[in-house]
Amino acid sequence: MPAIKFRGVDFLDFDSLLSDDERLVRDTARKFIEDNLIPIIEECNRAGRFPRELVKPMGELGFFGANLKGYNCAGMSNVEYGLVTQELERGDSGVRSFVSVQSALVMYPIYTFGSDEQKNTWLPTLQSGEKLGCFGLTEPDFGSNPGGMRTRARKVGKEYVLNGEKMWITSGTIADVAVIWAKVEDEDDTVRGFLVETDRPGFKADDIHGKWSLRASVTSGLSLQDVHVPECNLLPKSGGLKSPLMCLNQARYGIAWGAIGAAMSCYDCALQYSLLRKQFRDQPIASHQLVQQKLTWMINEITKAQLLVLQVGRLKDAGKVQHQHISMAKRNNVWMALECARLSRDILGANGVADDYPIMRHLMNLESVKTYEGTHDIHTLIIGQSVTGIDAF
Ligand SMILES: Cc1cc2nc3c(=O)[nH]c(=O)nc-3n(C[C@H](O)[C@H](O)[C@H](O)COP(=O)(O)OP(=O)(O)OC[C@H]3O[C@@H](n4cnc5c(N)ncnc54)[C@H](O)[C@@H]3O)c2cc1C
Repeated sequence: MPAIKFRGVDFLDFDSLLSDDERLVRDTARKFIEDNLIPIIEECNRAGRFPRELVKPMGELGFFGANLKGYNCAGMSNVEYGLVTQELERGDSGVRSFVSVQSALVMYPIYTFGSDEQKNTWLPTLQSGEKLGCFGLTEPDFGSNPGGMRTRARKVGKEYVLNGEKMWITSGTIADVAVIWAKVEDEDDTVRGFLVETDRPGFKADDIHGKWSLRASVTSGLSLQDVHVPECNLLPKSGGLKSPLMCLNQARYGIAWGAIGAAMSCYDCALQYSLLRKQFRDQPIASHQLVQQKLTWMINEITKAQLLVLQVGRLKDAGKVQHQHISMAKRNNVWMALECARLSRDILGANGVADDYPIMRHLMNLESVKTYEGTHDIHTLIIGQSVTGIDAF
């Protein structure tokens, strides 16, 4: 491996906008990723292996449900939580995806829509990483339009019976509990959330193989055939599609920060490489105007993305954030990171396609990040609807 070590990316004294606590959280997460994930991530990516050995230490550092209060959760601010996801994704989008799902898509719905019993049963063990969860919304035929879902729940006595298929579910085969979104037949097909223990008869999860993206994260298909759950497994305060969309908002917020981490990794690697690599007249490639143009584009966009997501985080901490703000941050920052990955790959020439460097892995990962949690174009329509008042979906 060449002597390229991450040095941080801060063009505009962004750090001066952070409190001491925020910087401490960021630096702690950075050190953890540097010491524990960076040394193994290329091997995990090659093998298509989720580094499960990091789950317990991440739980101990408070990464799961970090911005929730009580139940042993770290009670971080939203900005602190965002800085954690940034550092996680500088390591790898797949590992950040795992943390986002556990936190924003499993713990958050239990915290927000769950009964006291559900919260007391699940949140402490999900926080420690002793139990893992997954979030089943997407189906083979319904992705961007989850309202079309076919999964159904039918009330039979004191139980619900669930039937349906879910697809592209992060952590599906390693989860102890699945948050399953289904239309309830006796309630006018209202979408509601159910906690489904994954060892229940009729529940099956199979991994999706052959992914060229997020290879260090588990992605699965779920099948539910006459799965019986007691009525107390219904998330009592969930009701309507807005419930899963609220969860997605939490996850999108973390992604908007996370993408900056991936972009920082690519940019810093390309900058250092361009200063070492020499072509023509024994000069570093960084001395060529076209290479400088690429580096300038990247630092320019990373800096804007940092300011955008910090403002969204401050709004979220003040209880003033709106879903279209989060859409803007997710849409912009993931696009920006993907462009940075492509430009960085270019700057490394042939070396850019090898996994001696992190860039190609980030590039492939970011293709999924652009698609999940609302595709880039769906966020375009969300922002368009917000400014025009016209629904163009
Ligand atoms: C690695 C990975 C992990 C995932 N993890 C999870 C998970 O844990 N849980 C979960 O529930 N889901 C998960 N997903 C699914 C993800 O959320 C969906 O892939 C996403 O919502 C897009 O749905 P789709 O793939 O069916 O694409 P489609 O909805 O079929 O979209 C295909 C294309 O059509 C475009 N399009 C669709 N509708 C419109 C429109 N009205 N106007 C303009 N363009 C449109 C889209 O922008 C996109 O470019 C994951 C996906 C991946 C790749």
